[in-house]
Amino acid sequence: MKKKIAVIGGGIVGATASYYLAKAGHSVSVFDSGKGQATAASAGIICPWLSRRRNKKWYRLVSEGAAFYDKLLADLASDGLKTDAYARCGALILGQSVDYLQEVHDRALERREQAPLIGN
Ligand SMILES: Cc1cc2nc3c(=O)[nH]c(=O)nc-3n(C[C@H](O)[C@H](O)[C@H](O)COP(=O)(O)OP(=O)(O)OC[C@H]3O[C@@H](n4cnc5c(N)ncnc54)[C@H](O)[C@@H]3O)c2cc1C
Repeated sequence: MKKKIAVIGGGIVGATASYYLAKAGHSVSVFDSGKGQATAASAGIICPWLSRRRNKKWYRLVSEGAAFYDKLLADLASDGLKTDAYARCGALILGQSVDYLQEVHDRALERREQAPLIGN
């Protein structure tokens, strides 16, 4: 059943939800205070895989979110909303010691087993 849906907040989460709801045929209105918050401030780097956080639920949310971004771009492109504002260009890790860099490297290789999107 098609519904009238109000989405409060037009950041990446509200905008993405609105897009897919509208695609599914719902009538969507987005309300934003115009202030802009996290999305307006972010640098656009999507690289959750190297985080040292041990919270598995958090890791699953952010890594699946990053993987989903490719689908979002492909869906937008198929609707004629192609953008060249996003490019995958790798990650630069700065560390104060060789041990730290080795740890990050090992973690990346381990996580790549489940998330091949990490690349090289
Ligand atoms: C400084 C900074 C840098 C970041 N850098 C990165 C990064 O490099 N890579 C990365 O992946 N993530 C980054 N993040 C995290 C990422 O930006 C956020 O996780 C994401 O943008 C959150 O999106 P959101 O839609 O949930 O919230 P928001 O983008 O905060 O959207 C909320 C929207 O709701 C609106 N709003 C709020 N209150 C109301 C109200 N009462 N009525 C109407 N509208 C309202 C606001 O105007 C805003 O547009 C960064 C965050 C910050 C703060």
